[in-house]
Amino acid sequence: MEIEIGPISERGMGFLILLREGGKMKDLIKRAAEDLIKSAYAIALTGAGISTESGIPDFRGPSGIWTKDPEAEKRAYQSYEKFRKNPKEYWKERLSGPSLLGDLRKVMPNPGHYALAELEQIGILQWVITQNVDNLHQRGGSQKVLDYHGNAFKLRCVSCHARYDPNVFDLERLNRENQLPPLCKKCNGAIKSDVVHFNEPIPPDVAERSFEEASQCDLMLICGTSAVVYPFANLPRVAKRRQLEKGIGIILIEINAEPTPLTEQKISDYLIQGKTGQILPQIVEEVKRIGKEYGK
Ligand SMILES: [Zn+2]
Repeated sequence: MEIEIGPISERGMGFLILLREGGKMKDLIKRAAEDLIKSAYAIALTGAGISTESGIPDFRGPSGIWTKDPEAEKRAYQSYEKFRKNPKEYWKERLSGPSLLGDLRKVMPNPGHYALAELEQIGILQWVITQNVDNLHQRGGSQKVLDYHGNAFKLRCVSCHARYDPNVFDLERLNRENQLPPLCKKCNGAIKSDVVHFNEPIPPDVAERSFEEASQCDLMLICGTSAVVYPFANLPRVAKRRQLEKGIGIILIEINAEPTPLTEQKISDYLIQGKTGQILPQIVEEVKRIGKEYGK
């Protein structure tokens, strides 16, 4: 009997590609786990991608906050200028308007946040540097977090950079008694939201610490960010430059839904394409499995 060998049907081909991609994904997860175990000083950078999986809208996507409300974007562009010129008006507007990000207290961390917290607990991850202001890393259990763009649950003195829990101030009473803005208890400087507004410099303490961490890490896990917003976008480039100039073995791993400029410019060593909430927990499982094999 002759067996007819014809071209593989389109459906069959699709299945083969799926199998191949699935195998590739498994290999990459294993590779990331091995790289993490071998690393001496790993840090993670995170961006909007890890928060959208908790249901927080991004800003410029199809149903992003700015896309749906361009007026809100205009106002946001003026926030810092408004604070500089008239901190009382800035506060009056804040207290009367709705919160841009909705009620962040109702949002929960997702498996991606928990996985990074676990990597810290195991002793592998040293810091998370995040562009997100939602406090979800801290709520997910991470202890060492640098809020690069500030934290929506904190206030900050623009003079001495002291951070405050908003409950330290009775903002409604200050408003009624015409005493806004709240003043710093250490230096009497004007206080604003800790969230870094457009055109506002990154608070120098966070900027310097983040730069130091990017300069000394030997592994950078870049999760849910295309790193195109500066100066945050400098951080992977700082690590890459050190790798190239000094020939130091620094590994940059991206986990993102899509390839990014970091992928295209070969700043990252490899990309694991998909959802951070699915991939990070698998990496942690693999780290634990391999760790056991090594007797760690
Ligand atoms: Zn102060």
